[in-house]
Amino acid sequence: MIKILIDVHCHINLYLTVDKVIKNARDAGVEKIIAVAMSSISQERVLEIASQYNEVFASLGIHPEEVKMNEKIEQQLDSLIDLIKKNKQNICAIGEIGLDHYFVKDKELYPLQKTIFDKMLLLAQDLELPVNLHTKGAENIVFNTLPSYKIPNINIHWYSGPEKFLKLGMDRGYYFSITPAISYSPVVKKVVLNVDKEHLLLESDGPVKYSGKVSAPAIVKNVLNSISMLKEINSDELEKQIEENTKKIFPKIF
Ligand SMILES: [Zn+2]
Repeated sequence: MIKILIDVHCHINLYLTVDKVIKNARDAGVEKIIAVAMSSISQERVLEIASQYNEVFASLGIHPEEVKMNEKIEQQLDSLIDLIKKNKQNICAIGEIGLDHYFVKDKELYPLQKTIFDKMLLLAQDLELPVNLHTKGAENIVFNTLPSYKIPNINIHWYSGPEKFLKLGMDRGYYFSITPAISYSPVVKKVVLNVDKEHLLLESDGPVKYSGKVSAPAIVKNVLNSISMLKEINSDELEKQIEENTKKIFPKIF
């Protein structure tokens, strides 16, 4: 049985040694990596890396924390949208996009965050691309917003919100990508136990640190093994299933 691992959410532009990260991924059987852009400056870099490495596929979008990181984001919005439209042939998804009411504490920023999110969802609908979503602390609004748009497929990355949305998400056909936090986080373990294997994906969210260690795409192999143990599903079978799931949501990377 030939099968491959895929990291569906990685900030590959943030590594200093992309070559090494990709080589380690390859050695671990991780043959495809979705590189998610988050800021105005990362879009071009993500496109550049994706054009240099066969394993890397670009996903462009504006992260919900950008409203607090970049005071010019509102003025830059239209040109960023143009850039994404212009590159529609070179991207496999829109993301990382979403809402964040956990790391962004200033409520005055929420209306702008929502405006950007809506524009990104509209873009995904127009370009007929799947989305890579961040929902931290704003799960309720995100789940209420999504049905207003016709988006081919939805991945919710590192979900840690109320359990009730897991069932609703599955009913709507959403996917949930699991991070290396599965090794220590009771919330992430609960997501894995409650979400059917047909709705699971793997991600590193690298270079985020987990338990003090910098994450990278190669680590999704450990994530797979952790899910396999927790759900008591044979790891070969699970790997094949997750590959099939990934094909359904991100067809352009195959
Ligand atoms: Zn991320």
